[in-house]
Amino acid sequence: MSKFWSEKTKCLQPYVPGEQPKLTNLVKLNTNENPFPPSPNVLAAMQEAINDDLRLYPDPNAEKLKQTIADYYGLHKQQVFVGNGSDEVLAHAFAAFFQGKQQLLLPDISYSFYPVYCQLYGVEACYVPLNVHFAINPADYCRARAGVIFPNPNAPTGCILPMTQVEQILQANPDCVVLVDEAYIDFGGESAIRLIDDYPNLLVVQTLSKSRSLAGMRIGLAMGHTDLIEGLERVKNSFNSYPLDRVAQAAAIAAFTDDDYFRITCAKVIENRIWLVAQLQRLEFEVLSSEANFVFARHSRKEAIQIAGFLRQHGVVVRHFQQERISNFLRISVGTQEQQQRLVMVLEQMLM
Ligand SMILES: *Cc1c(COP(=O)(O)O)cnc(C)c1O
Repeated sequence: MSKFWSEKTKCLQPYVPGEQPKLTNLVKLNTNENPFPPSPNVLAAMQEAINDDLRLYPDPNAEKLKQTIADYYGLHKQQVFVGNGSDEVLAHAFAAFFQGKQQLLLPDISYSFYPVYCQLYGVEACYVPLNVHFAINPADYCRARAGVIFPNPNAPTGCILPMTQVEQILQANPDCVVLVDEAYIDFGGESAIRLIDDYPNLLVVQTLSKSRSLAGMRIGLAMGHTDLIEGLERVKNSFNSYPLDRVAQAAAIAAFTDDDYFRITCAKVIENRIWLVAQLQRLEFEVLSSEANFVFARHSRKEAIQIAGFLRQHGVVVRHFQQERISNFLRISVGTQEQQQRLVMVLEQMLM
């Protein structure tokens, strides 16, 4: 606490990201990064962008990138927004659509950055409990006042809400924004992007951090009705004109252009997830059905915190949340086959 802090700053409870350990030989399965490197074309495009032009500001509107994304998803450029990581895009969405309003509906178990933004932007959060299977019940998301936000697939559960049920939530809230955070949608789910032309209240947020292996570059995007995108632009241009630098814009364009690499690596992640789930079940874990690049699992006998501690001692890092209802679960990111084999080996040591 400092006397120099504003009243607002004194009240903040900032988000705590998963650990980025300094040790290099750890098997890092705690923050849902992609185990595979970015596309070689992306790295080449970035290297090419490192030249004398860096003395110049980047395109503040990232026009070429927005056009690339629009073409990729069959949208208009005016239906696309980009930002410095989807966390920043989410922050701008809170400011543009939810700020100062009562009753934002969100799942009780969900991305823990949402409550932080609620506090920062003076939004009243209304937590809706997931059902006993840790799934969203769409009937619980009716007539929100500020809006609705949820990840699909949900995090940290990995569970997907089918498109018909996303549509149900959109129909039940015609007068406020329904934000679908699709950080993990490319690992087997169906995107809500195709609903954009039918629902002016739909905002789809995505990131290049997970399925496109670019967490280190900080690139996020939002897609929706032009009115929503214009709202986001107003906030962005009142905050930072140049959220994406020249190298990031080049990287993102190349990432959406190399679709083969994207499809191959996503398929590999899905294949590894299937293997990981089978191994965990063999070791007596209950594993929630996941359409993401992580799984959420609890053991029949051993406590999650003990397992996480044992794994850590043996060089494997996973994520544990100290939160009611899920404190006995571990969230384990899908890794390479080698990483997952080490995880399973250590688990066998402890549990068999
Ligand atoms: C990882 C994640 C994000 C943040 O992605 P960045 O683009 O890296 O900021 C947003 N939402 C959810 C649900 C996530 O898991």
